[in-house]
Amino acid sequence: MIVAERKKIPELLNIVKAHKKILVLGCGTCVTVCLAGGEREVGIISSALRIASRLQGIDLAVEELTIERQCDNVFIEQAADAIERNDAVLSLGCGAGVQAIAERYRNKPVYAGLDTTFIGILEEQGIWTEKCAACGSCVLHEYGGVCPVTRCAKRMLNGPCGGSREDRCEVRPELPCAWQLIYARLKEIGQIDRLRQIAPPKNWHRSLDGGQRLVVRQDHRI
Ligand code: SF4
Ligand code: SF4
Repeated sequence: MIVAERKKIPELLNIVKAHKKILVLGCGTCVTVCLAGGEREVGIISSALRIASRLQGIDLAVEELTIERQCDNVFIEQAADAIERNDAVLSLGCGAGVQAIAERYRNKPVYAGLDTTFIGILEEQGIWTEKCAACGSCVLHEYGGVCPVTRCAKRMLNGPCGGSREDRCEVRPELPCAWQLIYARLKEIGQIDRLRQIAPPKNWHRSLDGGQRLVVRQDHRI
């Protein structure tokens, strides 16, 4: 899932304070699961904004709404009336959701209420970890399912850098060395011979550099 974090209330108030009526718009998918932008957080942030604005003498009305998915036009439609009757939208969706709303309602300012952080999983209660940097050309099958792009601080693709101590990364000692994990995993699944193969230079042309990426499925085009 996409993992995001809430911006702080003073920052949010600063973003919206020029408006009289705002809609705080939550998203019921990834950001709900990571406790950043679902219905519960919409309620908390809206209440906090009402209190903070009152304390500062700012005239601000805050409406609350959460739709199932902000990155999908089918669901965005459900917010149409609420968006129209407010001066601006404070979106608690991920960056894709914020932009989807902004593209659909071109006469409304749409602001990001979250910092979209990474693609990851819930590791344990209250802790999310990054698992994928969406590099566009997945090599997980070569590394026992442990991503060296995301989990190795130096993105080493042909073995460890040599700086690890015990099983710790030299750059981030609080984290295990990704190559320790890759080695252990390949051993577990009987694929340790993969370590003898030299990985060719990775194809980065589908990674973040070079502007917006897109995926086209001709078989789904009309
Ligand atoms: S190799 Fe790329 S696509 Fe695959 S998990 Fe790692 S960052 Fe994500
Ligand atoms: S110690 Fe391991 S995880 Fe850290 S940079 Fe070196 S190879 Fe990568």
